[in-house]
Amino acid sequence: MGFSSELEALCDAAVSFHARGYAFGSTGNLSVRAGDHVFITPTGQSLRHTTVEALAEIDLAGGARNENKASKEFPFHLAAYAAQPAARAIVHLHSTWSVLLSCLDTLDEAAPLPVFTPYYLMRVAPLAVVPYCRPGSENLATVIGEAAARSNCLLLRNHGLVALGRNMSEAVDRAEELEETCRLYFASRNETLRLLTAEQRDEIERVFGSK
Ligand SMILES: [Zn+2]
Repeated sequence: MGFSSELEALCDAAVSFHARGYAFGSTGNLSVRAGDHVFITPTGQSLRHTTVEALAEIDLAGGARNENKASKEFPFHLAAYAAQPAARAIVHLHSTWSVLLSCLDTLDEAAPLPVFTPYYLMRVAPLAVVPYCRPGSENLATVIGEAAARSNCLLLRNHGLVALGRNMSEAVDRAEELEETCRLYFASRNETLRLLTAEQRDEIERVFGSK
């Protein structure tokens, strides 16, 4: 897929996230990396209006490369790309069920979600829990960079989710799998669930690898 197709994929994903209720107001931001440039959704604008012409282009130090103003959360996108050189796309959402999980006082940070399905293992696990830091702060960029070095899916305490991918399609799949697994988790809190056994989890890791 050519790079202009990745910009189109970013816009399609942004509009679709808004249409399906994964993003609301002016929350959420998406980016793709091409070499030493990053294209990211602009600040203060609903994802519903995302177009290629409206994307902000910045370099890896955060310097502007066009006249559009980048999302104020761009520092953590740059930190994640720096931590994981294979990443070419990032999705960040304040989607409801992931935010709810991120706010649980009793969250087990070592195992934030039970393993219901093979798809969670294939697309999300290990889910890294990132401590709360003020949105837009350098501290948030630092802790996200640390987590992105070891995981493609991050849960930001009291904030939302971040998913990394080798392309936009992979980042979108991970974000959706995480959000839907959170939804399943809350929908099933009064149910007795059959989880995957250790042997079944090992088999998934053996057959599909770790990502
Ligand atoms: Zn955010």
